[in-house]
Amino acid sequence: MTRKDAATLVAAMTLAEKADFCSGADLWRLPANKRLGLPAIMLTDGPHGLRKQAADKDHPGLTGNLPATCFPTASALASTWDVELLRVIGVALGAESAGADVAVLLGPAMNIKRHPLCGRNFEYFSEDPLLSGKLAAAMVHGIQSQGVGACIKHFAANDQEHRRMVTDVVVDERTLREIHLRGFEIAVKQAAPWMVMSAYNRINGVYCSENDWLLNQVLRRDWGFQGTVVTDWGAANDRPRGLEAGDDLEMPTSGGINDRRIISAVERGELAEEALDRSVGRVVELVLKSLKGQPSASPPDFDAHHALARRAAAEGTVLLKNTGLLPLSPASNIAVVGSFAKTPRYQGTGSSRVTPTRLDCAFDALREMVGGHGTRLSYAAGYDPEQSGPDDRLISDAVAIAAAADVAVVFVGLPAMYESEGFDRTHMRLPDQHDRLIEAVSEANANTVVVLVNGAPVEMPWVDSPKAILEGYLGGQAGGAAVVDLLFGRSNPCGKLAETFPLRQTDVAADQWFPGSGRQVQYREGLYVGHRHFDSFRRPVLFPFGHGLSYTRFRYDNLHLDLDEGSAFHQRVRFTLTNVGKVDGAEIVQVYIHPASGTGPYRPEQELKAFRKVRLAAGESRDLQIELGPDAFAFYDIKLGDWAVAAGDYEVRLGASSRDIRLRKRLVLNASDQANPTSTENDRPVYRDGQLIVDDVAFASMLGRPVPVPEGARPFHLNSTLSEVASTRLGRRVANAVKAQFFKRMGGGDPATRKMIEHLVDDMPLRSLVLFFGGRVSFKAAEAFTAVLNGQYLKALRLFVAAARR
Ligand code: BGC
Repeated sequence: MTRKDAATLVAAMTLAEKADFCSGADLWRLPANKRLGLPAIMLTDGPHGLRKQAADKDHPGLTGNLPATCFPTASALASTWDVELLRVIGVALGAESAGADVAVLLGPAMNIKRHPLCGRNFEYFSEDPLLSGKLAAAMVHGIQSQGVGACIKHFAANDQEHRRMVTDVVVDERTLREIHLRGFEIAVKQAAPWMVMSAYNRINGVYCSENDWLLNQVLRRDWGFQGTVVTDWGAANDRPRGLEAGDDLEMPTSGGINDRRIISAVERGELAEEALDRSVGRVVELVLKSLKGQPSASPPDFDAHHALARRAAAEGTVLLKNTGLLPLSPASNIAVVGSFAKTPRYQGTGSSRVTPTRLDCAFDALREMVGGHGTRLSYAAGYDPEQSGPDDRLISDAVAIAAAADVAVVFVGLPAMYESEGFDRTHMRLPDQHDRLIEAVSEANANTVVVLVNGAPVEMPWVDSPKAILEGYLGGQAGGAAVVDLLFGRSNPCGKLAETFPLRQTDVAADQWFPGSGRQVQYREGLYVGHRHFDSFRRPVLFPFGHGLSYTRFRYDNLHLDLDEGSAFHQRVRFTLTNVGKVDGAEIVQVYIHPASGTGPYRPEQELKAFRKVRLAAGESRDLQIELGPDAFAFYDIKLGDWAVAAGDYEVRLGASSRDIRLRKRLVLNASDQANPTSTENDRPVYRDGQLIVDDVAFASMLGRPVPVPEGARPFHLNSTLSEVASTRLGRRVANAVKAQFFKRMGGGDPATRKMIEHLVDDMPLRSLVLFFGGRVSFKAAEAFTAVLNGQYLKALRLFVAAARR
């Protein structure tokens, strides 16, 4: 119905009205069309809370947000492995959005954690596409149940912040289909999000915002996506080409510049009007859907949402290590060490930053927890929460209180300056001050617990020193209280890692090629992302994918495989799970599939193919089952251009983590069901001296074409970044002027945000200046500027004159 209504409205639009509907009216709103009765709807961030800017705030859109519930960020939410919980959080996010008259929430974000150093990993779920896809789908369902659209992002392979606006991801199709696109495919097919956001970067030479293969073919034709595609903010490159490729909506506004380009492209026959109509139709359909969808807005229940945020934080915290110290008893003298206990770090910097409705801090929650038990609480800061530079005095103060206590609880992690949207981490360590603090306190007190506050894995050279380690991630506005509930056993830890914690950064397969050089990043590691890599080559890790302890223990028994629906590709995995401990708890059961030899092209040693979170009372035993479909055995067959299942031997593995397989059973899939796999054993990568060896010949064979030569920085063009042109005096002056403008419009900002802005401006391509100045600088003027930078003064003059004539 909505589709037909949209088509009727598009048919009634003039060309100018259509062009107007291809981009925003401002930073967050779509244009209205009074004549046709279409109001201006609003899209806003996302993903772990609503970030709606109050009117008239800064232009970059980072400050002045209305209060909203700040849920834990995606790393923590993913560690819950709880699809139902994510759905319920989606409902809460949808309700807050509807209450604030927001039509689409820009989330969930679901890029694959290719490397732990990606600055934005705190906003992403997992290294695993199945887990990412299922969690995103659940969240989308929840958000959209409130009549608000969800927008999954950033499509696709936006796995690093470094040069994100121009970098070219060179990657083979199988890796894309099986790792980087698979989660999006699951979310699209299972939850039908209203929107998909195309990413800033290029894939194999083509910007995602104008990538016909990615948008028209994979997303729409192969997966059946029916919704609207929006560019990431400022990602539009060649707008008419974007429309041709199925990128419907440019955000934010281009100040009318791209409207004119669209009109002239249609008039000159360079853009088919049908392509324009299709995109405008999808934008109008979005508007109609949002009008129909809004339920009668009863105000959101912020107290209930705070309680939900607390539950999510508790379930997303992972007990990494416990040699019997936890849970603590309130009747002991406790030294609390670490500024994060009093100045919580609970979310990341950048476009996802929410103004919380309130904020729990761990120290206050501790005081409340032990009140009345005669416990003495002492506190030492240990480090500066913002900079954390070396400071021996802060360490000796901490040691003094730790030595005098029964137990020391040390809150450490990554200050905001270390991880953010806009830049990647430069190493995987904690600040030295934090590492030294942990060692010193653990030496002073044998009963030391470390509580980690960070968005992504860190190296832990001190891992053997404390008796217990809790990974709290960025736990949202109620994270402080949730951690205290866990420390004292008021809740039982049940989170499991949705990502591997490597021993060292250099152990990561992609490390050799991260973040790439110049304007290109090569995904030579192929399928070897996260546990697929570590398990295939039996590399030691700090904590494996799927790992997480509990205050109870679970026993796995009686694994049976039954044919389901009479087909070998539909298997029912039956087993018995028993809580053999003394407290109630929840276990996350993971099903991995190991393809034995003879099953087609190279495959990782094992892959996560299903999971289930099960709550059991102390002593309870339950018979359970998990269904596996053909997806569980399939690989993407390039020659076939589709998923295929190879005949042969498989092993179904039931585990408490990827390294803690409890039960396994062999399964033979019949030759008659063979899908004729076309790749061969030769594709198998070589591993030598602890490193994946992928030379040019091997990579070219993965790509099916020669490895593209990285572009040089010169001559400059509209996609040269400000940091590239800053190698000239004029370029440097312009870059500095743009930075100054940004800071002025933002009106100050904390040090982490300032650092982010510095990086964002450095990575900004010249074409973005046109957008940034709201159309006051034309593309012609920007081209003239590049000509000057290239020393082509006559060309520059011609272009300046043309720009002035407009
Ligand atoms: C981010 C998106 C975000 C958008 C709007 C971009 O810089 O990459 O995730 O939704 O800004 O704030």
